[in-house]
Amino acid sequence: MTIILSPLPYADDALAPVISATTLQTHHGKHHRTYVDRTNTAIDGTDLAGHSLEQVIDAALAAGNKGLFNNSAQTWNHGFYWNSLSPETQAPDGDLAAAIDASFGSLDALKAELVAQGTAHFASGWVWLVAKDGKLSVEQTHDAASYADLSGTPLLVIDLWEHAYYLDHKNVRPDYLKQIVAEHLNWAFAAENLANGTVWAYPAA
Ligand code: MN
Repeated sequence: MTIILSPLPYADDALAPVISATTLQTHHGKHHRTYVDRTNTAIDGTDLAGHSLEQVIDAALAAGNKGLFNNSAQTWNHGFYWNSLSPETQAPDGDLAAAIDASFGSLDALKAELVAQGTAHFASGWVWLVAKDGKLSVEQTHDAASYADLSGTPLLVIDLWEHAYYLDHKNVRPDYLKQIVAEHLNWAFAAENLANGTVWAYPAA
């Protein structure tokens, strides 16, 4: 078993014009694929071959293997990011909506916090919605840092690396963030992660 390139859960033009087909083709077909390929090259013929992506990430972290960590964690982060986005505009409901209101005061306040932290983040990284004991928070990680660096269970993530938005929004990261948050977050996916209370499992072959 090798680590797979997790499929896009929608057509490559499904998020346009906020994220164009060209961006998705490059981001998924080249950036994400390169992380997958480098992970497989690194584990091929080692004790980690045949293990889940999460086991590879955890082992790389424990061993201080920065190269393998960066490639395996970026593989996971991108799989999680594709699922965090939705072609259709959704609204949270049920337990998720209640947790958002209790933690942020309103959905609009959460959206503003995601945009503010995503805008303020220096250089490459990720902005996450995280749940711990039913309480939600917005957190940032740098470079490839992933679920292990969060205080709880990740519900959603937005990619802050320039390759995620530069072709469509040039240097204006806030425009990308505002439009994603307004139109393309997969609240159903966040609700599933909240209900499960466990770290999402990257698809296996
Ligand atoms: Mn990316």
